[in-house]
Amino acid sequence: MPSFAIRQAMVDAMRRMLDLSLSQGTSGNISVRSAAGFLVTPSGIPAEQLGPDDLVEMDFEGRYDHPLAPSSEWRFHRDILAARPELGAVVHAHPPYATGFAICGLEIPAVHYMIAMAGGPTIRCAPYAPYGTQRLSDLALEALEGRGACLLANHGMIATGPNLSKAMWLAVEVEALCRQYAVALQVGTPIVLSDAEVAETVERFKSYGPREKSSQ
Ligand code: 13P
Ligand code: ZN
Repeated sequence: MPSFAIRQAMVDAMRRMLDLSLSQGTSGNISVRSAAGFLVTPSGIPAEQLGPDDLVEMDFEGRYDHPLAPSSEWRFHRDILAARPELGAVVHAHPPYATGFAICGLEIPAVHYMIAMAGGPTIRCAPYAPYGTQRLSDLALEALEGRGACLLANHGMIATGPNLSKAMWLAVEVEALCRQYAVALQVGTPIVLSDAEVAETVERFKSYGPREKSSQ
């Protein structure tokens, strides 16, 4: 995708996060891997006011040449993209249900098979650290070990993907899962799938999606 199209897709994704109530105000940020390092949303600019030229390109040393400051969370965007070469995009948001569980310091168990989309039988919750710190980045990276998403205690969530649309899709799925879990806790006692059941679904998802008739 040409650089302008990626920048526009990032702006659109930031607005979509507001529309879907995944974020509010200036909370949340997005990064996408680029030739020189990664593009990241600027700090403190509401999505409605954001334009493609406002995205800040950084290298993996954290250097940039742009009038706007990068997201305060550039460290975890940088560290996730540096540690996980298979990933192309990182989405961070403060959605109400995922953040509700994160406020309680709770990880999400396998209460729905869709948890397999995040890579394993739990979505971990990284312990609390102040926003924008290297400590938060270190804890987030640990919570993401073998996973595509995690919660951040008293803060929000991170979802990742090989590209921006898949990272956004996972962010929406994780919030939906947290919402379903919250409802289930009110209705009764949620039944948790076994590690083997989740592992089987992780395998099944490897061939999930539209296919040519001949390969079905
Ligand atoms: P930025 O506006 O600096 O990206 O911060 C928003 C946020 O969610 C901090 O955790
Ligand atoms: Zn945040």
